[in-house]
Amino acid sequence: GKAKVLVVGGGYGGATVSKYIRLLSDHSIDVMMVEPNTSFVSCPVSNLVIGGQKTMADITNPYTGLSSRHGVRVVHDSVTAVDTAKKTATLAGGSTVSYDKLVLAPGIDFMWDQIQGLREAHTAGQILHAWKAGPETMALRRQLEAMRDGGTYAIVIPEAPYRCPPGPYERASVIAAYFKKAKPKSKVLILDGNPDVTSKGPLFKKAWQDLYGGMVEYRPQHKAVAVNAKTNTVEFEVQGDVKADVLNVLPVMRAGALAVQTGLANANNRWCHVNFLNFESTAAKDVHVIGDAIQVAQGMPKSGHMANSHAKVTAAAIVAELQGIEINPHPMVTNVCMSYVDDAHVIHVASVHEFVPTQKTFRTIGGSGGVSDVRSDLEGRYAEAWAKNIWADTLM
Ligand code: FAD
Repeated sequence: GKAKVLVVGGGYGGATVSKYIRLLSDHSIDVMMVEPNTSFVSCPVSNLVIGGQKTMADITNPYTGLSSRHGVRVVHDSVTAVDTAKKTATLAGGSTVSYDKLVLAPGIDFMWDQIQGLREAHTAGQILHAWKAGPETMALRRQLEAMRDGGTYAIVIPEAPYRCPPGPYERASVIAAYFKKAKPKSKVLILDGNPDVTSKGPLFKKAWQDLYGGMVEYRPQHKAVAVNAKTNTVEFEVQGDVKADVLNVLPVMRAGALAVQTGLANANNRWCHVNFLNFESTAAKDVHVIGDAIQVAQGMPKSGHMANSHAKVTAAAIVAELQGIEINPHPMVTNVCMSYVDDAHVIHVASVHEFVPTQKTFRTIGGSGGVSDVRSDLEGRYAEAWAKNIWADTLM
């Protein structure tokens, strides 16, 4: 019969790989994609919902194009277990599905125990992360709307690697843009577990200085170890405690729980090592892992753009293998991350990476990409176009 590919997760990685396996195989390979959410809510651009510049509707797209245009079988359920020896997966709904190839694109989950008290404060709805777009995006927005003028919003950033290196700084910037208009006596505090701004540092710092003056304060070397929900305070390994009106703590991240549970997170029990030629797991045959869940190669961020690139290399490799044709020995991937510094001005970082066969990994091509010279509203329009294009490429 027809070869069967099972894709777990319908985010940037999973939706793209599903579509491209169908396209590249002329619809001759069956693809089932399992994803619990009934629509695709984008993390990219979600910071602008938190800042009040966009709405949830602006970042939400249907999954229906994958099924109606591309014949992907989209199942709204979760995979609870994978047997990599029998090549089967179990769904929460109870059924068991067999596969020839499995692609796991579960995104991230959180290592709650790294910050004492955070799991409970999060469950209570008090200290949010909003690092998976959805209901929590609006919940954080409501906390900011309810905050008094003169209050403090603090974002706490874990040590790299985490999902979306520039994301926390973008969030701080667009929240400052909101405060500047609506609550001008308020403050944005960035408490960073890293020694300096992880991405586009000079551009972000210049924007904070030029646009917000003293409203935004950046403090490096703040590695959180505990939160106190009673006093809304964060405790750090070295620095003194910090209290805020709205505390936004990003937990330490790891590969999605299913990858960890299946034994695929063989990089420190945290991320999944893959063979970069085809993104096959180094822990299990015929299982491919893409997106944020992998142990990345040098210079590769955990981004939606990257997950979309991983997906295309993987789709081509899977189709080649299942159809007995030669695999591309020299895949290349690209990345661009656009960050808003207010409601209209954007800065970017871009890079191109090539697979180097002798080193069996991707290397950033020297001189490729780079960062913006200055923030600009032209880049703001590019950012809108980037989002529309990647949503179309991933889903439509
Ligand atoms: P996801 O997109 O998270 O998809 C994983 C999916 O798997 C989810 O839909 C989940 O429901 C599903 N899933 C998990 N477990 C199971 C299971 N057991 N069974 C079935 N389904 C399961 N990237 C950019 O490129 N540009 C940006 O501007 C940008 N901005 C960002 C801003 C913010 C605030 C954040 C948080 C992130 C941003 N990112 C950006 C990063 C980007 O969102 C991620 O890198 C990207 O989503 C990773 O894709 P993924 O497919 O690995 O994971």
